[in-house]
Amino acid sequence: MVGRRTVIIGAGVVGAAIADELSALGWTDIVVVDQGDFPATGGSTSHAPGVVFQANGSKAMTDLARYTVEKFVALEHQGESCFIQVGGLEVATTPERMAEVHRRHGWLTSWGVEAEVVDADRCVELHPLLDRDRILGGLHCPTDGLAKALAAVEAQIERAKSRGVRLLPRHEVTDITVEDGKVVGVVTNHGEIPADIVVCCAGIWGPKVAALAGVYLPLTPLAHQLAWTGTVPALAGQTEEAVRPVLRHQDADLYYRDRYDQLAVGYYGHRPMPIDAHDLLPVEEAEVMPSVLEFTPEDFEPAWEETNLLLPQTAEAKIEEGINGVFSFTTDGMPLLGESKDVSGFWVAEAVWVTHSAGVGRAMAEWLANGYCESFDLHECDVNRFEDFQLVPEYVLERDCQNFVEVYDILHPLQPMDSPRAIRTSPFYLRQQELDAFFLPATGWERPHWYDANKGLLEHYQVPQPNDWAARYWSPIAGAEAQATREGVAMYDMTALKRLMVTGSGATAFLQRLTTGNIDKSIGSVTYTLLLNADGGIRSDVTIARLGKNRYQVGANGALDTDWFERFLPQDGSVAVTDITPGTCCIGLWGPKAREVLSQLTDADLTNTGLKYFRAAEINVGNVPVTAMRLSYVGELGWELYTTADLGLRLWDTIWQAGQDHGIIAAGRGAFNSLRLEKGYRSFGTDMTFEHDPYEAGVGFAVKLDKGDFIGRDALLRRKENQTRTLACLTIDNPEDVVAGKEPVFAGDRAVGYVTSAAYGYTIGKGIAYAWLPLEVASPGTEVEIGYFGKRISAVVTAEPLFDPKMTRLRG
Ligand SMILES: Cc1cc2nc3c(=O)[nH]c(=O)nc-3n(C[C@H](O)[C@H](O)[C@H](O)COP(=O)(O)OP(=O)(O)OC[C@H]3O[C@@H](n4cnc5c(N)ncnc54)[C@H](O)[C@@H]3O)c2cc1C
Repeated sequence: MVGRRTVIIGAGVVGAAIADELSALGWTDIVVVDQGDFPATGGSTSHAPGVVFQANGSKAMTDLARYTVEKFVALEHQGESCFIQVGGLEVATTPERMAEVHRRHGWLTSWGVEAEVVDADRCVELHPLLDRDRILGGLHCPTDGLAKALAAVEAQIERAKSRGVRLLPRHEVTDITVEDGKVVGVVTNHGEIPADIVVCCAGIWGPKVAALAGVYLPLTPLAHQLAWTGTVPALAGQTEEAVRPVLRHQDADLYYRDRYDQLAVGYYGHRPMPIDAHDLLPVEEAEVMPSVLEFTPEDFEPAWEETNLLLPQTAEAKIEEGINGVFSFTTDGMPLLGESKDVSGFWVAEAVWVTHSAGVGRAMAEWLANGYCESFDLHECDVNRFEDFQLVPEYVLERDCQNFVEVYDILHPLQPMDSPRAIRTSPFYLRQQELDAFFLPATGWERPHWYDANKGLLEHYQVPQPNDWAARYWSPIAGAEAQATREGVAMYDMTALKRLMVTGSGATAFLQRLTTGNIDKSIGSVTYTLLLNADGGIRSDVTIARLGKNRYQVGANGALDTDWFERFLPQDGSVAVTDITPGTCCIGLWGPKAREVLSQLTDADLTNTGLKYFRAAEINVGNVPVTAMRLSYVGELGWELYTTADLGLRLWDTIWQAGQDHGIIAAGRGAFNSLRLEKGYRSFGTDMTFEHDPYEAGVGFAVKLDKGDFIGRDALLRRKENQTRTLACLTIDNPEDVVAGKEPVFAGDRAVGYVTSAAYGYTIGKGIAYAWLPLEVASPGTEVEIGYFGKRISAVVTAEPLFDPKMTRLRG
């Protein structure tokens, strides 16, 4: 097999990794082109100091980094390894950072990377230049270290060349030829190269190269300061390139590495310095290289002052060289990977650090060769994950600059960016503001987490106080709203969830092929089902309501679902997929008194026989035509009520008014999260992702193997028989011990899994944490511990759901 004709644009560390990995999978008809000389092309890789820290809140990013470390350790160039495994040390100079060190240690433990929290003495032992009195301790990860980026580029390209891949340096891509929405080749300054697949690995030039294909790439090149000292007298005579761990001092936005008797100092504390990809200089015009801008010493002054304090012996040295080196930032800090939804055959692997490069190479190669990536869960990295508003250059620039500013900050999982805010607002926004909602953004939507207007509920309901970290972006009011929902009736704004309309004569067959469930049921049926990748991994969970013979409303998770559907649309035009999210809205009306409220407003039969659980009907609520679906993510009687955006405010007011005599409240996402975990309802992206199959995730009930073929079915048959882990429900007795997600779970001293979602269950009176665990420790009654900021929290595996297992409330 030679694979498809492939052109990789860019011979940096990303392009090289893809050429190596893809050729290893048998694709050899590959040309790598680069506008610069080889191997120092002038891109970001040419001057990267190669510092590799694997700790990351994203499991996928740590997995990609670990793969890179393991590959580079074994990869040789001119007889030497491409990785110097000196370890990594992140020091804390404040109590907040020390707590963060514990949290980051928890991530590494969760994702299976050995690391240790060490005290200040041990930090100094590891890195003797440190001032013992300035630090409180640190995180030591022995497998971190220094990637020799250029050596790795050469080694990977050499290997690829030995398999038949061609490298063309000094070939600038000046155009990309697209015919009928498909790439057919690239034009270079030395002629054309036909291609079925073009992979854009152009780094900071990515937006410019993508534009040649008519694709907008949401990333911003930003300059970042990197300086080198002269000889540090205390290091004089060091003959090895590096002996001390790579060092991070995140309280001051700094990192360090050895270079023989000198140190490199990297700095993120300066003002953001974005540059337009189109303004980067051509190779021959750039003084040093196109990705290197002139050093601005005044921006670096605080970095050097702080360095002299942290590493006092550096005061005897001077900064001798410095650059403002440019690399890519994105709106959410994650890479951009995959095939463009706009141009078939145009793939990108952009905004990738050296740290993750080889992992990304592997991931892209699998994805290209097999149609899916089995080694990594890429849902957070997919280039098609963005909503339209996230592809507006003004938004991209602001967010990317903010991500640069926050790159080393301690960020709470719920912490929003201050700006831009209120980009998307539901029709209920005005009323929510009147009720003093506390909003947090969800894919740009302002979504209430609780309403201060509900403060009075605290006189009726006990709400325990969680620990300080869990108490951020939280209010006891959320706990009261949860309890009030279980006892009375509440309105939840569900507008932020993605809604697609799938229509046409081919719609039924189309959905049957894409989903695991049987959706070919009577009009009015609602089905909870899954989208799978070809390897049986969960792509998404969706709720499909059949509203007509050829008309289905799909409750989905995000832009990746739209993209997935569109990729499988039949050529004959028999199916149309429309994103109706922006033009519609939804209120979840839930609680034991929901029927009393709604029945005042409609002639429709709302009884258990009239509109059964998991059935939908078009009804009128007051003056408002509504699609009512009898479902509830919070586990109470009630309906999701959908209408068009223009009628949303009217719908809210109508229900609000009718609910007054029944004590109706508006309730927010804080209550919602707690209620859904009491019911054991999984959330895609948190509890289950591409790497999990339905059986282990506890949603096997949504798979109908006997319905005929569907995407992922064959793989599922194999996976079903080989379960080794499961998504288990843990409960925690101490109400203060509310955890956040991503914490490691221990059986004795052994880290065995990690937490996905967590909340306090106000009805059951216990903390809840869902966690991936090996089967042998997942039986109810098994006692485990959760690592939380360095302490151990006792938890017990508990049979689920924790609330109303007989479903009497939902069916009531
Ligand atoms: C100062 C600095 C310090 C850094 N430190 C670290 C670190 O310590 N650890 C870490 O993990 N990461 C670090 N990074 C980030 C890292 O260097 C980059 O993310 C990474 O090198 C990007 O690799 P790439 O292959 O995507 O891009 P590049 O290396 O920039 O490669 C892109 C290639 O595309 C070519 N190209 C562009 N346009 C065209 C065209 N039209 N035709 C043909 N060829 C084209 C370019 O010539 C270039 O060779 C640092 C970056 C900087 C700037």
